[in-house]
Amino acid sequence: MNLRIGFHVPIKGGIQNSITNALDIGCTAFQIFTRSPRQWHSKDLVEADVKLFKTNLKKSGIEKNSVAVHMPYLPNLAGPDGELFEKSVNSFTSELIRCSQLGIEYLVIHLGSHKDMGRDHGINQLLKSCGQAVDNYKSAFKRNLDVTILLENSAGQKGSMGSKLEELGEILDKLSNKTYRVCLDTCHAFASGYDLSTEEACRRFINDFDNTVGLDSLKFIHLNDSKHEIGSHRDRHELFGHGKIGAKGLSTIINDKKMGNVPMVMEPNFVSVEEDAKNLALIRKLRRQPN
Ligand SMILES: [Zn+2]
Ligand SMILES: [Zn+2]
Repeated sequence: MNLRIGFHVPIKGGIQNSITNALDIGCTAFQIFTRSPRQWHSKDLVEADVKLFKTNLKKSGIEKNSVAVHMPYLPNLAGPDGELFEKSVNSFTSELIRCSQLGIEYLVIHLGSHKDMGRDHGINQLLKSCGQAVDNYKSAFKRNLDVTILLENSAGQKGSMGSKLEELGEILDKLSNKTYRVCLDTCHAFASGYDLSTEEACRRFINDFDNTVGLDSLKFIHLNDSKHEIGSHRDRHELFGHGKIGAKGLSTIINDKKMGNVPMVMEPNFVSVEEDAKNLALIRKLRRQPN
């Protein structure tokens, strides 16, 4: 199978532009926000844009299961009850609906922070917000959910949920149905203490991941390098090979029999389309052979 890899791309000027942006770079996988990620407010999607998005995606040759939407940043799905929690569930519901409208299979969510309420409370709140968002979706649409929710591992900032593989596995178990799978962010894993910087360390991590979360549950990868050292608990992405993980470790992921066949996107700071295209072509060459 060929590598399915790309970038998080902008939607400026309309959501349909994301596909042109992805193709210009040479992406065979990509990720978008459906709206501004740093605001609560979002405008409804424009029907004509949605139509164009769908036809353009079909024409693009990019596989449907290689496209993901990322949740906006403000919601906290594991926080205590109250106004913020309600707003978070509403925004989660709205993203599920937007994914469905766009025909996008995957919605990546952050697991949020328990806010000093303790891990168990955080897990319960997370299960509650997932349950409520899916129920809201079903009653709004009068049909079953056709979006898979991907739980993303965190960098292990204070109070954050799901930075350890065991915890991610535990949450996935508790949600226990086909609606939930996993998105692995390599920068977050490294920041939370997993060494990925050598081939050997990376192999150990992949094994560990399989034993705790399960490789079959892995549907998407954020192939980010890390600006900060291992165990820093800081979430700052670097371009592949330009951070503390380095190209050796990340190439191991690309060349792994299983992980290497999962769609992956990078989320560095945007420089230019030309730079992205050039970097993507270089990274593709690191794949030794199609697995
Ligand atoms: Zn993320
Ligand atoms: Zn991050």
